[in-house]
Amino acid sequence: MTVETTLSIIKPDAVAAGNIGAILQMISDAGLKIKAMKMVQMSQKEAEGFYAVHKERPFFGELVEFMTSGPAVVSILEGENAIARYRELMGATNPEQAEEGTIRKNFATNIQNNAVHGSDAPETAAVETAYFFSSIEQVN
Ligand code: GDP
Repeated sequence: MTVETTLSIIKPDAVAAGNIGAILQMISDAGLKIKAMKMVQMSQKEAEGFYAVHKERPFFGELVEFMTSGPAVVSILEGENAIARYRELMGATNPEQAEEGTIRKNFATNIQNNAVHGSDAPETAAVETAYFFSSIEQVN
């Protein structure tokens, strides 16, 4: 087992619906440690940069519009196997396919407005955590 860090975003839909507290409780109950956290209102450029890997996808414009539609809560989570564990806690991208007890099952509206983001691999986690946080913003 390796201790990993991963980037979590509580997306604008979940923030607007008042679900920050409930989602953080699920993260805490799963034993993932919060190393950094802040609320951000992404600009178009920032959201485009964050989702640059999806820029050729047909839904890219809509996704950027959604991610800039209101404040989001970004955090760095740490734990053994944190990347896979957080993806499991999030549930499937499409909430219709998400397992019971997952964040997306509880709080997502549809495949786009799906409450949370989590990094999918160590390489993307490193890029994504650095995108939002400097080292001084992370606790030891
Ligand atoms: P994730 O890793 O589970 O977040 O999923 P992806 O990396 O495949 O997609 C990134 C994000 O794009 C998702 O979390 C959704 O917010 C959005 N998304 C994915 N698929 C679709 C789609 O078919 N249509 C729309 N509008 N948005 C999508």
